[in-house]
Parts: sequence; structure tokens; C-alpha cells
Amino acid sequence: MKAAIFGAGVAGLSAAIELVDRGYDVELYEKRKVLGGKVSVWKDGDGDSVESGLHIVFGGYEQLQNYLKRVGAGENYLWKEHALVYAEPDGKQSFFKKANLPSPWAEVVGGLQADFLTMWDKLSLIRGLYPALAGNEEYFRSQDHMTYSEWHRLRGATEHSLQKLWRAIALAMNFIEPNVISARPMITIFKYFGTDYAATKFAFFRENPGESMIEPMRRYIQSKGGRIFIDAKLSRLELNDDETVKKAVLNDGHTVEADAYISALPVHSVRKILPASWLRHDYFSNLFQFTGSPVANCQLWFDRKITDTDNLMFSQGTVFATFADVSLTCPGDFQKGMGSATGGSVMSLVLAPAHQLMDMPNEVITEMVMRDIHSRFPKSRDAKLLKSTIVKIPQSVYKAVPGADRFRPDQTSPVRNFYLAGDYTYQRYLASMEGAALSGRQVAEKLHARSTG
Ligand SMILES: Cc1cc2nc3c(=O)[nH]c(=O)nc-3n(C[C@H](O)[C@H](O)[C@H](O)COP(=O)(O)OP(=O)(O)OC[C@H]3O[C@@H](n4cnc5c(N)ncnc54)[C@H](O)[C@@H]3O)c2cc1C
Repeated sequence: MKAAIFGAGVAGLSAAIELVDRGYDVELYEKRKVLGGKVSVWKDGDGDSVESGLHIVFGGYEQLQNYLKRVGAGENYLWKEHALVYAEPDGKQSFFKKANLPSPWAEVVGGLQADFLTMWDKLSLIRGLYPALAGNEEYFRSQDHMTYSEWHRLRGATEHSLQKLWRAIALAMNFIEPNVISARPMITIFKYFGTDYAATKFAFFRENPGESMIEPMRRYIQSKGGRIFIDAKLSRLELNDDETVKKAVLNDGHTVEADAYISALPVHSVRKILPASWLRHDYFSNLFQFTGSPVANCQLWFDRKITDTDNLMFSQGTVFATFADVSLTCPGDFQKGMGSATGGSVMSLVLAPAHQLMDMPNEVITEMVMRDIHSRFPKSRDAKLLKSTIVKIPQSVYKAVPGADRFRPDQTSPVRNFYLAGDYTYQRYLASMEGAALSGRQVAEKLHARSTG
């Protein structure tokens, strides 16, 4: 049986891994020259890696870790100290370190020791967040009608902890503010954070997400007979009389015929290829309910080290929300190239919220970033900035705003030979690499069940 998959991000690659393993004849079509989608990495003119975005693997990412192991990349990521590190003005740092105890004591004891929260913050959090720790999936869903800020205030937790702790988490998760994001994904995270010690550990890719994950996935799929085509954009679908897909047409006019067609495109791209007649199904018309979060990633190469923190960092009141010195966190790659010629830091910074940055010239953004870098990393004031890059993604992951969750589609569509995969489709995670990997597994399982059932 032949399956044609469109879009080679983590979702499309995961679906391909599952299907080649089940003996399907798989073809994967990607519109860009580089695989990986939002996780893609490419080389600049100096041979240095440029990332679409800084990426972290969480301990709770069981499906992604399963794929990494399956494709021989199980050793390609490095666990860091179990701590949230906040970069404060003038080079100070504050921490939320998990105590080495079983959950929830790891979090309670760690939280009580966090130096950036007041005692009142801590007490109000323990009392206020209890329903999240005790809640189940049904409770989380029932809270999808309000923003996280509303939920936080209703629970009597402090304004200071909202701005200091949870704003950073909202920006890291979905690139939007706590007064925009739904309560649902945030309280789901508390549940993990508060009840599963290992789920919130984080790891960085040893080299970069491209070399350490996407390449091994590509090699695995091809070694099992899967065929991957780049520069191959899906432009439209031709239908049979019963509205099933007859063939897919690529940008260059080539046609693709298969028994099953899987879109692993981002949701804003799927909308462009949907045949008009399908829109009478809520399943397809609901896809127009999603809005992408704008985000940008900035990389800065310095002539010397400006920090010795080998971990993910957060900060508040800066143009960047989460960041790391990837010359330390990803030693297999970013110590090479221009930065390492001088042993310098390579800062990779996620800029969020980013709606106001999308139309700004890169030089202006870099100046804003550098001002904040000087404030958070005083050593940078004597360092020379060798070069910088900015990657803007106007529509990245879907905004997890109140009410959005119910529009997330199942992977099985009403059209018998057409399926959806992608981080926005329904699986238990928010849009993330794990969500994309889960969607890939689910689409393959559902396709297989339908074709054998
Ligand atoms: C800056 C940033 C930082 C992030 N950090 C993290 C993190 O730390 N941890 C984490 O878990 N997640 C993180 N994410 C989220 C994560 O990257 C995404 O959720 C995930 O990679 C989405 O995978 P996907 O396969 O669903 O979609 P995509 O990665 O968007 O893949 C879709 C693919 O389809 C292709 N395509 C589009 N149109 C067509 C067409 N017409 N024909 C053929 N191909 C097409 C695209 O080029 C792309 O390759 C981050 C995202 C960003 C932007």
C-alpha cells in the first residue's frame, strides 16, 4: 500500500517512520530544500549552523525519545541540571531548582527555596494551584474558556508570581502572554511540573536539532525504502466523483498518486490546498479557526564567552524570552565555526512576544537584543559581536487561546483516503516536537487500522 506524505517536519517524518516500519511504500514531499520544518537547521556562508528556533527536549517527551532511539539517535541529546535559571539585570541569576526528592516534594521544597519568589508568592501558589495538581484531563478541558491570567487571579495566586514565573513559561510554551494563552495548557503543565519529577527535565541536542534528530530520521526512512523529495511543494488536490483524492499536484506540475494522502503541513498551509467542496464539513472549515503565533529566533556570535551557564535560561522584561549559549549546551556543533575560532559564546534566543517585530528591520531588532544582552550578561559589554542572524516565523505554532482546543482535528478526516498530521492536530500535547511526533504515530495507526479494518 502506498502512502504519500506532504511536509517533512517532525510530524511528517514521524508518520513516515511508523509507516515504513509497517511495510508501507512511503513517499515524503517537502516544499523546502531542507527537512525539519520549524526544527530545521541550515549552514550560513561561514559554515555555521542557523536554527529555525532554539529547541529543548523535555523528559516527558516519550514518543519523541522513542523515535530518536529507533533511528539510532538515542544518545544525541544531553540532559542539563534540573533547574529554571532566570537571568536578571546586571548579570545576577535566580533559580528554581528541583530538590532531589520524589514529586511533589521535589517541587514544593524547590519552590520554597526559589529566591525570586516571596514567601507570600510561594504560599499562594501552593494553595492556588492545588486544583491543577489534583486535576484530570476533564478538569483541564473545562478551564479552556478563560485565559491563564484569569485562572491565576481567580485562584488567588499573586500578581508577582504571575509576572515573574508564569509569564516566562507562557512565552516559552506558546510565544504568547499569560493574558492571551488559555488556562488549559498552562495548568496541564503544572500537573506535569508538580507530579512527575522526570517530565520537566530538559535536554539539548548534542549538535543541533538538524544533525542530531532530523538527519538520523531521514537516513532511517530511506534505509527502509522510503523516498524523500525536496523542493516539492503540494499545490492542489484533484478529486474523484466521491470526493476522495484522485491525485496530488505539485508546484512543478508533477502528479502523485497513492492509496492514502497525509497532510503534515502547518495548519495555515493546509488551508491553501483544501478543495472548496470539502469545506462543508466542519472538520475542514474548523481549520480556519487557528491563528499562528509570530516568533523570531536570533543568533549572536561573540568573540569570547559572555556566560558559563550550560542550561536553558529565562528572563523577564527583555525582548528575548528563552535562550541559551549553544556553544555550551550543544557542544557537538556550536563550538566549531566562527564562534569557536575564538572560543566565543553563540547565543540562540527566542524572541517573544514577537508580533511587533515582524515588520522591523533586522538591524533594529539586533540593537534591541544587544541592549538586553548587555544588561543580562555584563561580560558582553567588552565582547565583540562577530555576526548575527534573525529568523522570523510569522505563523509558527497555533495560538493556544481560550476555545481553540475544541477545533483541533482528529487525524482521520471525513474523506476516506485523506489524513491530517501536525502539532495542531489532536493529541495530548500542545504544539511541540512531542505533539508533532504523537500526531505522526496516531495518523499512521489510524491509517493502518482503516486500511486493514
Ligand atoms: C522558535 C521556536 C522554538 C521552539 N522550541 C521548541 C522546543 O523547545 N521544544 C518543542 O518541543 N517544540 C518547540 N517548538 C515547536 C516545534 O518546533 C513545533 O511544534 C514542531 O516542530 C511542529 O512540527 P510539524 O511537523 O507539526 O510542523 P512543521 O515543523 O511546520 O512542518 C511542516 C512542514 O511542511 C512543509 N510544507 C508547508 N507547506 C507545504 C506544501 N505545500 N508542500 C509540501 N511541504 C510543505 C514545511 O516546509 C515544513 O517542513 C518551537 C518552535 C519554534 C518556531
